[in-house]
Amino acid sequence: MIDNIIELSHAYGGTFYVRGGGGNTSCKDATSLWIKPSGTTLATLTRETLVRMDRAKMAELYDYDPSPDATQREADVKDLMATSVFPDSSGRPSVEAPLHDSFPYTYVVHTHPARVNGLTCGVQGPAECERLFPDALWVPYVDPGYTLCMVVREAMMEYTKRTGACPKLVVLENHGIFVAADTVQEIHDLYAHVMDTLGAEYSAANTPESLTLIGDSPDVETVSATTAAIQSALGSKQAAYVAAHAPFHVPQGPLTPDHIVYSKSYALECEIVDAAAIEAFIAANGYPPSVVRTSAGVFGVGSTEKDAALAVEFAEDGSIVEQLTAKYGGMRYLTDASREFIENWEVESYRKQISTE
Ligand SMILES: [Zn+2]
Repeated sequence: MIDNIIELSHAYGGTFYVRGGGGNTSCKDATSLWIKPSGTTLATLTRETLVRMDRAKMAELYDYDPSPDATQREADVKDLMATSVFPDSSGRPSVEAPLHDSFPYTYVVHTHPARVNGLTCGVQGPAECERLFPDALWVPYVDPGYTLCMVVREAMMEYTKRTGACPKLVVLENHGIFVAADTVQEIHDLYAHVMDTLGAEYSAANTPESLTLIGDSPDVETVSATTAAIQSALGSKQAAYVAAHAPFHVPQGPLTPDHIVYSKSYALECEIVDAAAIEAFIAANGYPPSVVRTSAGVFGVGSTEKDAALAVEFAEDGSIVEQLTAKYGGMRYLTDASREFIENWEVESYRKQISTE
């Protein structure tokens, strides 16, 4: 079983399914849940890094009376999760562990494919999901963490009561997909069904699935001038690295939690990058830009080389997702309340912090 979940994690750990530290996988028996630790990637998961959790202990969460204060609530949940880790494991369990635990199936593979997010972020997502995947459970957007786990768990129980079986496909609005089954083969079959169905949809509608570039890569002088301008406005620590990419349409708002974590909710779009443009952006948004877009290119900004590269990578992914939502009625951005929850979320910032080590 452990070998199987490692194999599945690698099979669904490529950029077609997840980017950065996104997505997670688990397997379980009656007493233990083995799950990918927070801050690691699916592609590099090993037997040794899997976190083993005590399912009976974790189940106490289902009776937890949540604090009305979101910060307190997430802290309480984090503590309970930490005490659910068996002493023979180390690492911080994924915040989505109780959700994995709630599936009565051996394997759970959760990913955020752009192909699926074209549907989950589409205005017509709920109706189209029902048409394409009538057996899937669609869950309207919920803040990640404890709330997400409990809302999805509740919806799964209701679905089970109604149909006699727990769903194997759970589609989360503006987030991604959970696929669960008792065998590796069934996980593969379910993923193939979802991905092939959506691929055929985009193809029939002539909706391109690759990034649409709107110019050549910026030349060396432009890259160094833009980098210097960003660094002089943000400081050489915060903007130690700038990753340059040929221009494309960057997302016009917050798409999913991971897009916010890695690329921020909004990009700075301007013709001339200078201190005034960056200061105006900070004044309007309350944070410095991670993605800067000019007619010459798209620039990812970070304190590490990896952060800068991931900022561009998530802008690219977001650009593709926005493009795909054309098939499903256009883009539905996260609301200000949803966006602010992520921007203030300690768990995610911790994840990013350790995933960039
Ligand atoms: Zn997720």
